[in-house]
Amino acid sequence: MKPISEQPGTSESGGSESPSGASPPPRLDLRAATGSGIFAYAEAPESVRPEIADRYGLYINGRFTDPTSSKRFTTINPANEETISEVAEANETDVDAAVRAARGALPAWSGLPGKERGKYLYRIARRIQERARELAVLETIDGGKPIKESRDVDIPLAAAHFFHHAGWADKLEYAFPGRAAKPVGVCGQIIPWNFPLLMAAWKIAPALACGNTVVLKPAETTPLTALRLAEICAEIGLPPGVVNVVTGAGATGSAIVDHPGIDKIAFTGSTEVGRLIARSVAPTNKRLTLELGGKSANIIFEDASIDQAVEGIVEGIYFNQGHVCCAGSRLFVQESVVARVVSKLRDRMSTLRVGDPLDKNTDIGAINSKAQLATIERYLESGSSEGAERHSFGSDLPAKGFFCRPTFFTGVQPSHSIAREEIFGPVLSVMTFRTPEEAIGRANNTPYGLAAGVWTDKGSKIFDTAKHLDAGVVWLNTYNKFDPTSPFGGFKESGFGREGGRHGLLAYLA
Ligand code: NAD
Repeated sequence: MKPISEQPGTSESGGSESPSGASPPPRLDLRAATGSGIFAYAEAPESVRPEIADRYGLYINGRFTDPTSSKRFTTINPANEETISEVAEANETDVDAAVRAARGALPAWSGLPGKERGKYLYRIARRIQERARELAVLETIDGGKPIKESRDVDIPLAAAHFFHHAGWADKLEYAFPGRAAKPVGVCGQIIPWNFPLLMAAWKIAPALACGNTVVLKPAETTPLTALRLAEICAEIGLPPGVVNVVTGAGATGSAIVDHPGIDKIAFTGSTEVGRLIARSVAPTNKRLTLELGGKSANIIFEDASIDQAVEGIVEGIYFNQGHVCCAGSRLFVQESVVARVVSKLRDRMSTLRVGDPLDKNTDIGAINSKAQLATIERYLESGSSEGAERHSFGSDLPAKGFFCRPTFFTGVQPSHSIAREEIFGPVLSVMTFRTPEEAIGRANNTPYGLAAGVWTDKGSKIFDTAKHLDAGVVWLNTYNKFDPTSPFGGFKESGFGREGGRHGLLAYLA
């Protein structure tokens, strides 16, 4: 395999490509205006540094307690590889204590009038807003995502989920008329590392609104904002045991899944672990919802506004370093416009700034962990060795930390692993189609079914394409837009169940 050039915006072939054979239009040298050019941005580091304890306990029954095993693990900053804090590792005994606390709190919590439960949710939402800057910085330090995303997306949306569900708490009988709104009981909730506080909010807010109590486990690489949320629960006076947060890795998650005192499991994570959980839960009476992986299609028709679509491609795959379950990782471009789209995409990508996640100008932060970076690098290798052409962008990477240049591949075949498997990184596979039928067929040719994007100026084409796509969410002339009023979830190997909107409440009602 040829070594890829370290220069920003170069392809393995060293020149500009024209996948359809047509000559691409001349390109602007946008690098001159960004990166190391004369108009380079000055550094704009976030100045707030939240207080972070040297060690954290488990949040059980309204108190932080030490783990019974005394075992702890470290959480590190992926942007500089420094240890941030030590976090407790919960074993089966700790999980049992958390489940008992949640069970003990259930009668009083579920017996509260919805209006009273709603007040607690409003308080949590407001406290998240009040502590937003601190939470955003903490999320970025612990997870590696750019501060502008934690600040403008993760934290405001987390607050919005609590506000939204606070509003439902006293209106459940209107959500499902004719049905008594009874909670399921004690919910075990396991979340991934890509949107740590937001995923906690997606899980906890509907559960509490419907009168359930919870035991939540954040991912082992990003536990700090869930623990801060536990602090907020204590601060606002949430009754002890209603929310319990236990930290640890897969074994702690398994202990939650297998605990007989749990009534419902809500899992967000990989399809592989989702399968294991489905097997464990199958012989029990536990309810289950799974939000799993994806390999979503972003379809650009020739009549689309190409500049707008290019923004949507970038938003679709490079947002949060591509650590997004619904990332638009398979790009399908109508053959007649592929040269234009690829050319404009190259120009746009040469302006992306990769680096310190705490710099407000950074577009692409750190990859969440060393292991995830190794996975992405394996896919980058396989893309080239299977015959696709690699184009990588971005300025010089920091010497320390886990960083990856945003990349797209042209000349991708549907059989290539980069076109079939979830990479969960800033890597896009560009493919083409001729007719709408071919676009739909190729988009649906995946075991996943989480999301899709459609770009066209024709309203009828939008609706006709969207209704034929096997995807839980279809964005039209936009991508990666989230709102608590809108249900989110997948089909096929992307899981089942919905989070958000009225549909999301169903998972938490008996
Ligand atoms: P993961 O499955 O490895 O881990 C997710 C969580 O499960 C973590 O908290 C982990 O500790 C826990 N876990 C691991 N093994 C377990 C086991 N045997 N039993 C119980 N819990 C266990 O996934 P990840 O690498 O953290 O996250 C990335 C994956 O999550 C991607 O596949 C992504 O698509 C998916 N995801 C899906 C959505 C969605 O809404 N569909 C949202 C975000 C992420």
